[in-house]
Amino acid sequence: MYSLPNLDITESFNKVAVMTSGGDAPGMNPAIRAIVRTANKAGIEVIGIHRGFQGLIAEEFETLNSRSVSHTVQGGGTLLKSARCPAFHDPDVRTRAADILTKHHIDALIVIGGDGSLAGAHLLTTEHQIRVLGLPGTIDNDICGTDDCIGFDTAVNTAVQAIDKIHDTAISHDRHFLVEVMGRKCGMIAAHVGIACGAELVLLPEHPLDFKDISIQLSENRKAGFSSSGIIVVAEGQGPDLTHRLAEEMRSIGEDPRVCILGHIQRGGAPSSHDRILASTLGNISIHYLLAGYQDVLVGVSNGSVTTTPLSEVIGCQKQLTSDLIRIIEELER
Ligand code: ADP
Repeated sequence: MYSLPNLDITESFNKVAVMTSGGDAPGMNPAIRAIVRTANKAGIEVIGIHRGFQGLIAEEFETLNSRSVSHTVQGGGTLLKSARCPAFHDPDVRTRAADILTKHHIDALIVIGGDGSLAGAHLLTTEHQIRVLGLPGTIDNDICGTDDCIGFDTAVNTAVQAIDKIHDTAISHDRHFLVEVMGRKCGMIAAHVGIACGAELVLLPEHPLDFKDISIQLSENRKAGFSSSGIIVVAEGQGPDLTHRLAEEMRSIGEDPRVCILGHIQRGGAPSSHDRILASTLGNISIHYLLAGYQDVLVGVSNGSVTTTPLSEVIGCQKQLTSDLIRIIEELER
């Protein structure tokens, strides 16, 4: 459990709205449930906006109550559905969105999503003085201002469970498996999955890759019987087909690796207990933050405590892997 701040009530609200936006993440449902239950107990009505900003401009609204979020805590995905809405980059569309929120007498909007969704939320405040709060909902855990994001723990567990199975065949055939996990710019999933599954090597987008060197090293490890697991965890990175290109390079020196792209399996499934507790805590405290007058902040966690960070400092910030994490990976690799 996280340490929570002591907050005084300075504001009153009749109606708040909540949406999930961008990539879905396991744990979004417990967050929605916590927002609804906490708000209702404080006498605040909650409007669920379907399909993120797309649903906002299409006025796809639903009143949520304690009963409508029953039996949702264990479900993956998001009961409000999610979407990407390229039109929200247009200031005129954001003006329409703000007018719609005002028309429906919505006093505050809570956005659960990744960096892009938080950027959209922040613009509603700066351009139209809409009161917003952001919750970090992304399996990538690439958001600054929080140590953890809703969905990350579940995604890591899902990938590790899959790789444990692949491991059996890798060992039986004395063969390398290149397993690609999500993470375009930030190797947070790859780093944690790599440690948890005992990977022989972890390839991160943060580090330059020399395919030839990597291939030769892996080949030598295998021939020397040193291969600790046969599993190489590869973050998808920014280039296309990175994992297949590395496999090709390995084939060119006589290796016979297999490639497994875990893909969307990492997004699905029931949220882990960790993600349920994180999401429930952040959902609950977000209502208390609103009542205490906070706005335009990300509600996250840092060193075991719930914290807030201005959205202006969160958006576009590149989260760094800690040097301790990198050291552990490097010292455990073959
Ligand atoms: P995520 O929130 O998971 O990072 P995206 O980056 O796709 O996912 O963003 C989700 C949605 O947020 C976009 O489809 C768009 O509607 C909105 N959004 C993203 N970036 C901006 C931006 N710079 N300005 C306004 N809206 C944005």
